[in-house]
Amino acid sequence: MSTKFIIRNPSYLIAFSLLISISLGILLYGTIKLEKKFEKKMLDISTSDVISISKNSSEVITSLLKDSKDYVTDIKTNPKLYKIIEGNLSILLTKNIKYAYLLYRDKRGVFRFLIDGAPEEDKAFVNQKFDIDSPKWLEIFTEKKPVLIKQPLLHQLSITYLVPIIYKDNVELILAIDFSVEKVEDINQIISVIKYAIITIIFIIILFIIAFIIQTIKYITVKKNAFIDKLTNVYNRNYLQESKDFINLTDYILVALDIDYFKKINDTYGHDVGDKILKQIANTIQFCVRKNEDIVVRYGGEEFLALIRTKRKNHLQALNVLERIFTTIQEKKFKISSEEFINVTVSIGVNLYPGKSRTFQDAFKLADIALYNAKNKGRDKIEIFSNEQDSNNFYMTINDVKDAIEENRVTCFYQKIIDNKNKQESHYEALLRIIARNGDIITPDKIFPVIKGTFISRNITKKVLEICYGKLKENPNVYLNVNLNPQDIINDSILTILKNYANEENIANRLGLEIVESEDIINYDGSKRNLLMLKNLGYKLYIDDFGSGYSNFIYLTEIKTDYIKIDGSIIKKILEDKVSYLVVKSIVNFAKEANIKVVAEYVSSQEIYEKISELDIEYSQGYLFHQPKKDFD
Ligand code: GH3
Ligand code: MG
Ligand code: MG
Repeated sequence: MSTKFIIRNPSYLIAFSLLISISLGILLYGTIKLEKKFEKKMLDISTSDVISISKNSSEVITSLLKDSKDYVTDIKTNPKLYKIIEGNLSILLTKNIKYAYLLYRDKRGVFRFLIDGAPEEDKAFVNQKFDIDSPKWLEIFTEKKPVLIKQPLLHQLSITYLVPIIYKDNVELILAIDFSVEKVEDINQIISVIKYAIITIIFIIILFIIAFIIQTIKYITVKKNAFIDKLTNVYNRNYLQESKDFINLTDYILVALDIDYFKKINDTYGHDVGDKILKQIANTIQFCVRKNEDIVVRYGGEEFLALIRTKRKNHLQALNVLERIFTTIQEKKFKISSEEFINVTVSIGVNLYPGKSRTFQDAFKLADIALYNAKNKGRDKIEIFSNEQDSNNFYMTINDVKDAIEENRVTCFYQKIIDNKNKQESHYEALLRIIARNGDIITPDKIFPVIKGTFISRNITKKVLEICYGKLKENPNVYLNVNLNPQDIINDSILTILKNYANEENIANRLGLEIVESEDIINYDGSKRNLLMLKNLGYKLYIDDFGSGYSNFIYLTEIKTDYIKIDGSIIKKILEDKVSYLVVKSIVNFAKEANIKVVAEYVSSQEIYEKISELDIEYSQGYLFHQPKKDFD
């Protein structure tokens, strides 16, 4: 446990101290108990002799009175008997046993001496009144058993032991013996010392805990001030310096963000406005990141650094946070005076795997290289640092896809959709392809797994829409379908593009939108609303891959789809698998009732074609008729 660690986690030390206090408390309790127990033991030892002597003596007295019917009167009137008993009592006296005497109670209930064993000069006379000092004395008449009455004095314990002398079940006489027990001072003293020592230690520890808590609170507030950038209120570099040992870089993507042409803002509007912009940028970043998860640092004058938390190998959410920062800044109007606003853009460099670097500095350098590239490419860009080792042969990397978009290597292949009635082409589906730098054609199954859900996926959609729009303009008689992801349907910039296309004549009516059925579409009211809006703009809606996922018939009617494309995986099995056949049949029945047209995907053989024609499916798509090609035939 380093001291730093303790200071960071004062709760450990406090808990530790509390634990010690509690242990000491238990020890104290044990000591007090022990003291009591010890005292009792000592008392038991010192009284046991007296008790047995008293018992003997009371037995002797009882036997001396065995012929008597009235004890008190007989003793008073028989001097011989009186003397014998007096002798018996006086021999009981020792250094510790001070008094031994017989008492009786008169008719009014007053205690009186009968015989006193004390020496002449100290002796009480017969019938002398005896004042009892405790109600315990009366117990003997009800209990009819010996009673022990204790009275603590300074260095000793004074004890009166009473033994009843009974005649015919009545307590006639009381044999009383007064004796004292010396307290065992030495042991008591030791125990007291231990007791006070423990109490003192507990007290000191509690003082220490209080002082420590106060110190820690002071330390934290001072440090906090030292870690926060005064202008922007985000962390400053000191914070990174202090906490870099505690941050596990594999849990984050590392983002370097720099304001574009900030010098110009300073030069045009003045340094104060520059400061205002810096504050607003910091606020915007802070607003876009997730509280308690992501870390924002002002790294230099107008450069920020963000650590965005990510799950191992899954950058999806982190990249979305990043995109949110980027687009929010892009779209925001920054206030420079009460009525003037300006746009500001930023360039961003990302290191997706900072955990692979040896030090924080190294990891940062890679993000900075990417940032430099973003600046070089004209600013207002996100660049991801690419490490060749990250790419494997099968999937593209996010960077490959980004590069392909920027280098215009995104393209489409087109596959015919056939009208089953006349086997003539009805329209085409545009299928995404990326041309690798070496000329390879890369298909969506190798592209989407790495970019799914990220802003890059949306950028690809935008690119594909642009290509299709071009094709529709060039070929005024062609009908074309394009694939959209559920996230595309709720993306404002994509919706804007589609709205713009719909403003032109003869575009929306020829552009079919294929949307994969998914939970997102079913659950989000927003996506349903947007689909209806697109339909009102003139676009035809296709539910793609139907039957592979949720196959919820109800929402088909809610979103008023025009076409269903039955998933190829079912069509493939339609000949040999009865269930697949029945699924297709029920989809077709439903579609007919709901006035929705059906397209069968993966029609790869004459037999499949015949089977689906039998079921009265309107359209086919598949290798039997046409393979995707670079251009329309
Ligand atoms: P680029 O697009 O390449 O990033 O250009 P730039 O002008 O943003 O970058 P450059 O590094 O040339 O200039 C950064 C400017 O930021 C210079 C400096 O005066 C200004 N600056 C640094 N710290 C502050 C600050 O706290 N307040 C203000 N107002 N300006 C600052
Ligand atoms: Mg700058
Ligand atoms: Mg499709």
